[in-house]
Amino acid sequence: MDFEAFFKGELDGLHQEGRYRVFADLERHRGNFPRATRHTPDGPRDVTVWCSNDYLGMGQHPKVVDAMKEAIDHCGAGAGGTRNISGTTHYHVLLERELADLHGKESALVFTSGYVSNWAALGTLGSRIPGMIIFSDSLNHASMIEGIRYAKCDRVIWRHNDLKDLEAKLAAADPKAPKMIAFESVYSMDGDIAPIKEICDLADKYGAMTYLDEVHAVGMYGTRGGGIAEREGLMDRITVIEGTLGKAFGVMGGYIAASTALCDFIRSFASGFIFTTSIPPALAAGAVASIQHLKTSSFERARHQDRVRKLRAMLDVAGIPHLPNPSHIVPILVGDAAKCKWISDILLDSFDVYVQPINYPTVPKKTERLRITPTPLHSDADIAHLVDAVQSLWARCALARAVA
Ligand SMILES: *Cc1c(COP(=O)(O)O)cnc(C)c1O
Repeated sequence: MDFEAFFKGELDGLHQEGRYRVFADLERHRGNFPRATRHTPDGPRDVTVWCSNDYLGMGQHPKVVDAMKEAIDHCGAGAGGTRNISGTTHYHVLLERELADLHGKESALVFTSGYVSNWAALGTLGSRIPGMIIFSDSLNHASMIEGIRYAKCDRVIWRHNDLKDLEAKLAAADPKAPKMIAFESVYSMDGDIAPIKEICDLADKYGAMTYLDEVHAVGMYGTRGGGIAEREGLMDRITVIEGTLGKAFGVMGGYIAASTALCDFIRSFASGFIFTTSIPPALAAGAVASIQHLKTSSFERARHQDRVRKLRAMLDVAGIPHLPNPSHIVPILVGDAAKCKWISDILLDSFDVYVQPINYPTVPKKTERLRITPTPLHSDADIAHLVDAVQSLWARCALARAVA
């Protein structure tokens, strides 16, 4: 087989569909978030980033940066091993304590990323609990889907956020089988939020455990940044809360928080936890600083919500349709991969506005979109510039305006 020709042929297909991914080559400016330098073949240019998951700018917070520097000065760069073989540093222990406390759970377990935490935890629970059936929301993240697939247990997909469909499927299953309902709080592409309480009620009624991905909510909702379940007083009703350190907390890594027995079980049986080097101590130290800061400071959360409201109001005035939702994510539907990429390219090249186009398979075809994520550090002028730029392109691209 001509492997090179095969690879090129597959890539040509992506180009033709307008969904070949081109990464922006960025250098973020510490102290000047959300500004970054973009390196282009024609030289460097400054851009404003409008699509970062560093939702609160914590990746540049002085407390976080200082904690990471201090940890490196103190104990060097890497962890030097898997968690079992010399890679558990005191920073890891402190981080897991901090996370357990954040979610009101007995224990927490840190993984190299949120992706790995979902894959390893769901995979291990699904494969090791005999007869397990996992009821998975149809819009669950790729990492949850992969974990459930890897578990090879029975899985039932229920219609996104649809309690009737979930109940019908729970009721149809063997009453004696162990069950798990796996879902997210804030869904990252549409920005809608699951009915967590009602799902917990169904879980109680049918004897299911609950697994909640709060990746897009930790740090950002609840009085201490524990997520939507904290805000709604429901953390104690969730069996496993999964989160990331890479989005609102501004660093990198993933985790689960749950009972001591469950965390110990995953720690002891999950390949994706056991056979990989643990995160660098500096990352753990930065995460602790970030979590601690957001446990007591609501300034970032309040300012963030204010910026989201402001952007939505200005888009409404400009007649740019955006998906309404109760979260911080502002999706502008374009509905065509090539147009979506075209708008995003011109925003970048002519307006120095960076919004990555979101295409299939991240979202279904025909729902391609610009996914805008305001942060506490976007100014009124930044918002006005973004809205002006989108407005001028919208007309040229002949996309329907929202009826005012
Ligand atoms: C980003 C994301 C993850 C993975 O988290 P990482 O720390 O980036 O690996 C998991 N779940 C959802 C819903 C996500 O959007």
